[in-house]
Amino acid sequence: MDHTPKSRDSLDQEQFLTILSREDALARFEAALFPRAMPSEMRSLADALGCALARDMAAPIDVPPFDRSNVDGFAVRSADLASASETASTRLTLNDEVIACGVAPALPVRSGTATPIATGGPVPRGADAIVMVEHTDPAGDAAIEVRRAVSPGQFVSYAGSDIARGEALLRAGTMIGSREIGMLAACGIPEVPVTRRPRVAVLSTGDELVQPGGVLRPAAIFDTNGAIVTAAISENGGEAKFLGAIPDDEPQLESAMRQALADNDMLVLSGGTSKGAGDVSHRIIARLGAPGIIAHGVALKPGKPLCLAVCDGKPVIILPGFPTSAMFTFHDMIVPVLRRMAGLPPRSDAKVSAKIPVRIASELGRTEFVMVSLVEDDAGLIAYPTGKGSGAITSFAQADGFLRIDALADQMPAGMQAEVTLFTPHVRVPDLVIVGSHCTGLDLVTAPLARAGLLVRSIAVGSLGGLAAAKRGECDFAPIHLFDEKTETYNTPYLADGLELVPGWRRMQGIVFRKGDKRFEGLSAQQAVCAALADPACIMVNRNQGAGTRILIDRLLGEARPDGYWNQPRSHNAVAAAVAQHRADWGMTIAPVAHAADLGFIPLAEEHYDFALVTARKQRPAVQAFFDALASQEGRAALTQAGFRPA
Ligand code: AMP
Ligand code: MG
Repeated sequence: MDHTPKSRDSLDQEQFLTILSREDALARFEAALFPRAMPSEMRSLADALGCALARDMAAPIDVPPFDRSNVDGFAVRSADLASASETASTRLTLNDEVIACGVAPALPVRSGTATPIATGGPVPRGADAIVMVEHTDPAGDAAIEVRRAVSPGQFVSYAGSDIARGEALLRAGTMIGSREIGMLAACGIPEVPVTRRPRVAVLSTGDELVQPGGVLRPAAIFDTNGAIVTAAISENGGEAKFLGAIPDDEPQLESAMRQALADNDMLVLSGGTSKGAGDVSHRIIARLGAPGIIAHGVALKPGKPLCLAVCDGKPVIILPGFPTSAMFTFHDMIVPVLRRMAGLPPRSDAKVSAKIPVRIASELGRTEFVMVSLVEDDAGLIAYPTGKGSGAITSFAQADGFLRIDALADQMPAGMQAEVTLFTPHVRVPDLVIVGSHCTGLDLVTAPLARAGLLVRSIAVGSLGGLAAAKRGECDFAPIHLFDEKTETYNTPYLADGLELVPGWRRMQGIVFRKGDKRFEGLSAQQAVCAALADPACIMVNRNQGAGTRILIDRLLGEARPDGYWNQPRSHNAVAAAVAQHRADWGMTIAPVAHAADLGFIPLAEEHYDFALVTARKQRPAVQAFFDALASQEGRAALTQAGFRPA
């Protein structure tokens, strides 16, 4: 592979000369790492939680160690009570001792006698069953009447019935949880051999990275991968050490990488692997030890720049820089290797099967990862694709995990069952599922539901996507704001059978500009657009085709196509960001968004944000709670306060 740096003026990246399939890359990586001797260490039970047992453990004693009573009652000989019944009780003489927990019996139980015994007490010699105290009556100080026959062994736990001495107690590789710790404690084992947790160093790379808590200078971003990867390593049996973010400076990065490798068993970097001009980490790896790079460039989407290496027996991984790509590749390809190094079995609690509600197109020849969000219908789990491109951390917020589409498939058809890898291994099915267009007003209405312990899942797929989901019955309702040009009305013309419209709120749309811009200050919307068109230096930001806002813009513009017309972001927020950051001078957005960005605003027309409710789901408690909150005084006040007008 050619690792020479490109000259500064060369804009195109070095090509990945050899692209391996996901399967080939994994197979080669594992072949270079395994089998290997895994160091083990003794840990006290208290410190062993989450570790993998390094050796099989046999039980050194019987549990319980003696025959033990399961109830409060009397130790008896069952043969004595063969004819005892409610109508003809049998009298037994009491022996002169009481067997409490922890007291070894001194007297045998002879025929015709009984000994009082507490739950957990050792069964005395001669006795073969326990009769419950409830089935007896006192007969003076030294005798009882028994009203039931008992079978031999009744209410006795025999020695070794729980765990038998010599039995395989726990197998090597078992992840030690509270149950396992209980079993070991019951056997009196104070410490266990566990596979030493692999020490994993985590480094982020990039000049643009600032640690959370720092000040975000222009064009900088917060280091997301460092935190995610460190946590995910701990979740999967590693001992993570986050070493911070290193600038794209070869000598500095090389010394950090060398130090990290000297002190640890494994090194995970992120960023700097794209073979772009400033990307240097993969070049350094080649100098860190044999055999070096195993795969650089894997047929993944996203995740192609993934780099897998082994340096002197230690795995070195460069994850792609985009946080979602880093997550997919880490969970799919690195977690299995890490768990194997930690002596843990593959994670079984992190996979669920779910139905795909919509067809997902996929590129032939690359294994594709698709972020999904889980909801449930009568038939089981449904996995909604929610990815918004490899750069989006936001889709994480809604996602429960991801699915994988094979390299040889050009699609995953609607209705198919797919395996979903969960980011965090527990799924709580939401009480309320909202699929459609997102609005910050929704969060105000759902706030009391969350406080009442209801889990609300809101999946932003746009108005039309929401309507389709509602028609399929996959959500409780779809928030929509669809303008029908023919009838010049909002939303109602879009309803289908089984759906009904619940009015939500109105959002004032208008022109946004930076406060103090003399071209727009104090004008009407129509005048503002005229002023913008009159100034050739003025740049606009448009909206996507199909957005209600776009229709308004096109009406205002008529035939005009000013500079910026083809910049067509898909959200109200993106329009405000473009104007606030001077990438554009004006655009159209809704009032709350303009105000939140501290921009000037000229009102034009109200947009109707309503709910297409699935009638069949109307009576569900969480749905009722949502519409109660919407109609409530507090709900309306919160919406008004935020700049919306409740319908
Ligand atoms: P790179 O592979 O270094 O070119 O990074 C690709 C993209 O991921 C760039 O937009 C980086 O800013 C972004 N990125 C890289 N590292 C991180 C990180 N640790 N946290 C968040 N974003 C990152
Ligand atoms: Mg970088």
